[in-house]
Amino acid sequence: MSKYTVTLLPGDGIGPEVTQAMVKCVDALNLDIKWESMPAGENALGEYNSLLPEVTIESIRKNKIAIKGPITTPVGKGFRSINVTIRQMFDLFACVRPIKTYLPDKLAKYKNIDLVIFRENTEDLYAGIEFELGDRKTEKIIAEINAMSDKKISAESAVSIKPISVFGTQRIVRAAFEYAVKNGRKSVNCVHKANIMKFTDGLFLKIFYDIAKEYEGRVEYWDTIVDNMCMQLVKVPQNYDVLVMENLYGDILSDLCAGLVGGLGLAAGANIGADIAVFEPTHGSAPKYAGQNKVNATATILSAVLMLRHLGETKAADILENAVIKIIQDGKYVTYDLKEDRNDPSAVGTQEMADAIVKEIQG
Ligand code: NAD
Repeated sequence: MSKYTVTLLPGDGIGPEVTQAMVKCVDALNLDIKWESMPAGENALGEYNSLLPEVTIESIRKNKIAIKGPITTPVGKGFRSINVTIRQMFDLFACVRPIKTYLPDKLAKYKNIDLVIFRENTEDLYAGIEFELGDRKTEKIIAEINAMSDKKISAESAVSIKPISVFGTQRIVRAAFEYAVKNGRKSVNCVHKANIMKFTDGLFLKIFYDIAKEYEGRVEYWDTIVDNMCMQLVKVPQNYDVLVMENLYGDILSDLCAGLVGGLGLAAGANIGADIAVFEPTHGSAPKYAGQNKVNATATILSAVLMLRHLGETKAADILENAVIKIIQDGKYVTYDLKEDRNDPSAVGTQEMADAIVKEIQG
């Protein structure tokens, strides 16, 4: 029996290429990992008539660790994002996204960024509690709200509900503080809009300060309103360390921060629950590049680094991360998006960059 069995979802579009590159880098570390490759996304529709077949759900439930490529959400009614479904199905409440400068100085727009976003992953406007324009249920909800509130909703409206719970907030805030303390981080910052949403974001902020008291003296803490935070991140991202926030702000700030350090090809992510964790790059399936051996697999490889740290394989994680840094800093065996000129003919393909990382690991 292998030491670890990991569910692998290659996904759609560029997913199979970037996960293939990731697997070869992780295998070079000789950790005795068995990959259980499972269908999910458009590739599963033909055989299983489902975007997320039961066999895949069972595999994740059994192995408790999964790593996935991006999955296409088919356009049209009736298709819910599989990514959101997986997060909710396994209650993966913490979306953890490290944002770090890996690019060499000549390419980096910002130097020395090293922050981590903790995004609440199950509540907020992503809870999926929406009421469609014209639906009878919507009319009823609007009538009820209008009867008890002095602020009136137009009868011709769609409505989305934003639940922020005590339990949901406590566990994400605690996860952020625990991470900060365990990883020697200086500060935790709560990002919110409590000046406008006094009851929902106000609750999030209050719980943040209640929990922060438990960490007094071990880590600094403060809060910033989300619009100001966008401006501060673009001006002085180096001032920030661990950021904790609700789902929607986390979604937006994650991409903003990915842009600060060189784009989606470098942005790794983890979705962590009480006993199951799913790791994935932040980017989508980029269908126009599928099958071309062109895109950057770094985000998926760095997601594997997060997975190894989660498994307690710190040494292997350091070796892999350092090999990625070396190859990116050298700038020779890198994909087009990591070149000064995106049309540079010396850019290598997805697999060739992974081969260079493997060579670096093997010394
Ligand atoms: P996308 O991230 O797939 O692509 C946007 C652009 O970013 C690409 O055209 C490309 O220029 C660049 N890019 C993305 N990944 C790259 C990489 N690894 N290397 C280099 N460049 C890269 O976003 P989209 O076009 O909005 O979405 C396409 C599909 O992916 C949609 O169906 C969407 O629902 C899905 N999606 C899935 C996930 C996920 O599985 N977690 C996340 C986002 C979007």
